[in-house]
Amino acid sequence: MRLHVTYAGGTIGMVDSPDGLRPGADLQGWFGSQLHGIELASNISMSTLDPLIDSSEATPEDWQAIIDDINAHAETADAFLVLHGTDTMAYSAAALSYALADMGKPVVLTGSQYPLGVVGSDASANVTGALRAAMSHHAQGVMLFFGHKLLAGNRATKTSSWAFRGFESPSVSPMARTGAPWRWYGAPSTGAGLAHPSPYTRQDIAVIDVVPGMSAARLRAMTTPHPDAVILRTFGVGNIPASEPGFVDALTELAQAEVPIIVASQCYQAEVMLGHYEAGNALARLGAIGAHDMTLEALYAKTVFLLSQGKRGADFARWMDRSIAGELTLQD
Ligand code: ASP
Repeated sequence: MRLHVTYAGGTIGMVDSPDGLRPGADLQGWFGSQLHGIELASNISMSTLDPLIDSSEATPEDWQAIIDDINAHAETADAFLVLHGTDTMAYSAAALSYALADMGKPVVLTGSQYPLGVVGSDASANVTGALRAAMSHHAQGVMLFFGHKLLAGNRATKTSSWAFRGFESPSVSPMARTGAPWRWYGAPSTGAGLAHPSPYTRQDIAVIDVVPGMSAARLRAMTTPHPDAVILRTFGVGNIPASEPGFVDALTELAQAEVPIIVASQCYQAEVMLGHYEAGNALARLGAIGAHDMTLEALYAKTVFLLSQGKRGADFARWMDRSIAGELTLQD
């Protein structure tokens, strides 16, 4: 088994500086020490992305840099490990899952809450767990290993800024948990994939949280000038304050301008059902697209992905409604 590691940045390889944590640890040396005496050690290659970043600085171009590195080693490696900051790791994992849906080789992202040089750091457990996951014959698609759990990459969300169990997949069970032995809970669902996808490019997407008392003027200001798409984070199954004067009119203007309106839920665990309540019916009538049970991270990355592929109008809506890489559950 040959493994390729892409080191993209994050706390795992950071050191203290007068201005706070920044990349600078000898990650390559440390990684070698983790593998000392293991047969796999001689079958590992590693790329260090330049510049190494705090993942809160990541953009779709950074997702693409990781994808390009993986594609460059797709012929020579059997599995991939990505060392990444935790802040936006779930976004990157989802982005990779769409772009690499057709690759057929496992990719595992991991990082840590503490840098590798700190006594009691979670770096070692996460990296060795991710390695074990990547090498397992159960491994499939793009995954995220963290805090003793292996999650489907496009189902994961960061749930804690400090806990060692910092990620969950709210709508589906984990793929595996560690222990002696590990317990595997079955493969994640797959999707339609998309052959030879175009690279990720930045898109102008407004992600808007609806809150009680929000005015139409505020909604209009947040969508002026019109973005390429709107992700509206609504209440419950997809409800908005439809009786607020002008609120639905502002959304109607967007729909008439062919700006896709994608309706997500603010609930940690959600299944969007447009039109289930009168308060969400206006969105259904406008032709808004429901996000099913996608996490915000999976939904945002998917929106960027589809726009980067040039998908627009009914084609965009069709792709948003179907699973590309197991990111959503389609109800019968
Ligand atoms: N800000 C860091 C990052 O995402 C946090 C971490 O890695 O835990 O790069």
